[in-house]
Amino acid sequence: MSGVLRIALTGGIGSGKSTVASKFQTLGVPVIDSDVIARSIVKPGEPALKAIVSAFGKDLLTDEGTLDRRRLRNIIFNDLSAKTRLENILHPLIYKEIDEQVSRIHYPYCLIVIPLLVETERTNHFDRILVVDIPEEIQLKRASNRDNDSLKLIEGIIKSQASREQRLKRADDIIDNNLEIEDLNKTIQTLHNKYLKLAEEHKTL
Ligand code: ADP
Repeated sequence: MSGVLRIALTGGIGSGKSTVASKFQTLGVPVIDSDVIARSIVKPGEPALKAIVSAFGKDLLTDEGTLDRRRLRNIIFNDLSAKTRLENILHPLIYKEIDEQVSRIHYPYCLIVIPLLVETERTNHFDRILVVDIPEEIQLKRASNRDNDSLKLIEGIIKSQASREQRLKRADDIIDNNLEIEDLNKTIQTLHNKYLKLAEEHKTL
């Protein structure tokens, strides 16, 4: 890989990915959000929506012709082969769009926020993996407070995601976000300096 250093930012629900990403953004770092891409590629008229409808049927469209996400989630929830089929449609398009956005960046490095990176085993697509990590009790508390959701619902989501250990095994860098916000700022500034230095070395590879 050449050019811009690509840092994937991942972590479980409520770990602090968005908080961390926006702090890097404040320092001037370009941030690409895979969730935004995932939503934009299934808009009406986009090829991914057509492919999903031909794979799963017209019932997945709302009256307005948009994707009925809830219905799709229900279909793939208990059906691994349907989930794989959906991922085979979406992932190549998401990664193509990530590559396109990276190619337009004029900055030494960028962050790409990918919540389910470890789950989808695409870690090789990036130069480094940055994991935001917190203990599960805090993850539960922060995510349920943020979304006003029950602890039970968040617990279910945490269980469906990679475990802390699985994520940490793949990490090149870790942000321990069991921190006060001021300490988080310091950690991010240190990582920012490190990434600028690594990007300089990366350029000469
Ligand atoms: P994610 O994007 O990983 O789901 P968020 O960045 O939205 O997580 O963080 C989840 C919640 O926790 C948000 O309400 C956020 O403001 C809060 N939060 C994040 N980091 C901290 C921190 N270090 N201290 C206190 N609250 C935090």
